[in-house]
Amino acid sequence: MSLFAPVMYFTLGFIIAFLFPRLPIILITRGRGFNTAFPEHPEPIPLSPKLTQRVLHMRMIYWMGFVVATIPLMFGLASIKWGNTAFGFGLWLSSGWFMLSRLQTFVGGPDPPWTLETAQRLQIVMDKAKSDSSCCNYPQPEWKILTISCSTCGILLDKLPRPDLGRKRMDGVFAGGLRLLLTDGHPTIMDDDHESKYLQDSEE
Ligand SMILES: [Zn+2]
Repeated sequence: MSLFAPVMYFTLGFIIAFLFPRLPIILITRGRGFNTAFPEHPEPIPLSPKLTQRVLHMRMIYWMGFVVATIPLMFGLASIKWGNTAFGFGLWLSSGWFMLSRLQTFVGGPDPPWTLETAQRLQIVMDKAKSDSSCCNYPQPEWKILTISCSTCGILLDKLPRPDLGRKRMDGVFAGGLRLLLTDGHPTIMDDDHESKYLQDSEE
């Protein structure tokens, strides 16, 4: 018997289960109607309650991927038992790997690109801009690729690299989608201290 067909089925199962739980983050928020409140990618985004809400939505969709991954996992198990074993094993291995890598967060692994802490830091910067200790008279904090800074006086407000925020990407659906698959939404550029962390993050 040739090994070719099982290898093909395995690969197919693996790829399907790889893409499946990642689709929500690539598809859900990219529509034009979703992003009217924000400037186009990759322009800096002014801080606002809408932006904080977007970060929380991205976080929710990220964890939704975990739930979605149970579907190919179940199909994989069913296929191993009653269907094409190689295909099922591909599905099962890929979605199981995905779920394990997501769970790493709880045992000291890398954080997701969107966390409650991210939203809180945005809120702190916004609160400070409205308070007496603001950076200048007309503070306009905005989130650039690597930092949050004031667009009026240029002062650095928080060193928080910007993850993907669900805007339609300037590099188009395919290249943008591929980039998201590779980075999983993490900021694509990091400063030196974070570089090693970033490399670990992208390894899943
Ligand atoms: Zn300022």
